[in-house]
Amino acid sequence: MHSKYLIVGSSHAALEGATAIRLIDSDGTLAMLTRDARLPYSPTILPYVVSGRSRPDKVKLRDESYFRANAIDFVSDATVASLDPAQQSLCLVSGETRRYDKLLIATGAAPALPPVPGLREVPYHVLRSMNDAVGLHEAMQHAKSALVLGAGLIGMHAAENMAEARIGVCVVEMQRHALSGYFEPRASTIIERTFTRNGIRMLMGRTLQRVERAGEGCRATLSDGSTIEADLLLVCTGVKPNMDFLAGSGIETEAGILVDDRMRTSAPNVWAAGDVAQARGFWGDKVLNGILPNAVEQGRIAGLDMADDAGLQPFPGAVPLNTYSFFGQQAISVGRAHADDGVDVKESGDDDKGVYRRIALKDGKLIGIATINDFIDAGVMWQLILRGTDLSAVRDKFIADPMLTGRQLMSQTWR
Ligand SMILES: Cc1cc2nc3c(=O)[nH]c(=O)nc-3n(C[C@H](O)[C@H](O)[C@H](O)COP(=O)(O)OP(=O)(O)OC[C@H]3O[C@@H](n4cnc5c(N)ncnc54)[C@H](O)[C@@H]3O)c2cc1C
Repeated sequence: MHSKYLIVGSSHAALEGATAIRLIDSDGTLAMLTRDARLPYSPTILPYVVSGRSRPDKVKLRDESYFRANAIDFVSDATVASLDPAQQSLCLVSGETRRYDKLLIATGAAPALPPVPGLREVPYHVLRSMNDAVGLHEAMQHAKSALVLGAGLIGMHAAENMAEARIGVCVVEMQRHALSGYFEPRASTIIERTFTRNGIRMLMGRTLQRVERAGEGCRATLSDGSTIEADLLLVCTGVKPNMDFLAGSGIETEAGILVDDRMRTSAPNVWAAGDVAQARGFWGDKVLNGILPNAVEQGRIAGLDMADDAGLQPFPGAVPLNTYSFFGQQAISVGRAHADDGVDVKESGDDDKGVYRRIALKDGKLIGIATINDFIDAGVMWQLILRGTDLSAVRDKFIADPMLTGRQLMSQTWR
């Protein structure tokens, strides 16, 4: 079977790509292949499926009418096994071959398991797909204790959900602090304290040495020699791009699929976008930037370029952006979380009240801002960084009130 446009994946990057193509080309044949057995959903809602607040059948990103209205051939249960760029074709695990004029790879990422002895021999959970979320929700109904490995965003979300379900939770993290990719130690400490106050054991700066089966659950031995027994083990130690099917294709990869500022890969007529793509970072080297707004932006650029949009604005570079709610509180991190030499950093707040603000400026420009329980408009801050807005003239005003000053500046420059 042949399509003018073929998209692999059905999540944020894939859907934005399809919508962008249809803005320019309403007629070209377009097919979307996904290994999922259901209509598209966002991984970001999975914590709510785990907690039981959302039902799996209620969380569609698009329904059948979107695919009908946009003449998209949506094919579920279609896992891509290999790609041959010279033949402009790919092969599914079912053995079926699909040909394309232009291909978008938007296959996202999957949980990366640490090389811990015994891990693969005990029952464990991960959280990336709807099936994972449903499985974890079910396991929680019978568990009294849980061990969460990894204090990144996913591990912390899941730990909170489990604590709210009255499960005794212990979080083990090899870094000295939780969420260290997004926050400086002072902010992480505020978040960790909130978790501890809510009954969660936070064991930071420890690694899991080995794990073995104990009854229906597991027994974990940590680097400090202590052991923990838990009914349920959840592994949240990062992700790796889904690109195994590129083996032998010749497409250039490093940590992800290398793309240029139009999301083009090293192979003609093949684009990649979202969590699977390694694109230019705003401050230099090509990076993975596994966040939803990045997938949306890259998918849109790829789709527009595939449909030959003459007015395409190339990718400006990846800037991290995370908003994180925990136990009714809110943390936001935009841009660089850690300071290099020559960075003008202002930290303020009240640790006892759980209020925190950190602003990092370089050469008069914002390069990072993080807050806890101090609301800022993350989208405005993101734009200030991306546009390289010079804040020199309003530096003190911005430090005193970043949200108001940022909004005023953007209202003058927004186009
Ligand atoms: C629990 C959780 C919470 C998150 N919360 C946030 C958040 O609050 N904010 C935020 O910015 N980001 C969050 N993220 C990250 C965000 O979900 C991702 O950045 C985003 O989904 C990336 O979109 P994507 O389209 O690149 O890939 P994905 O969403 O990973 O989708 C990949 C698609 O490709 C399909 N696929 C994979 N391999 C194949 C194959 N071989 N053949 C066919 N199809 C294939 C998959 O089935 C899926 O449809 C969260 C992620 C998780 C797991």
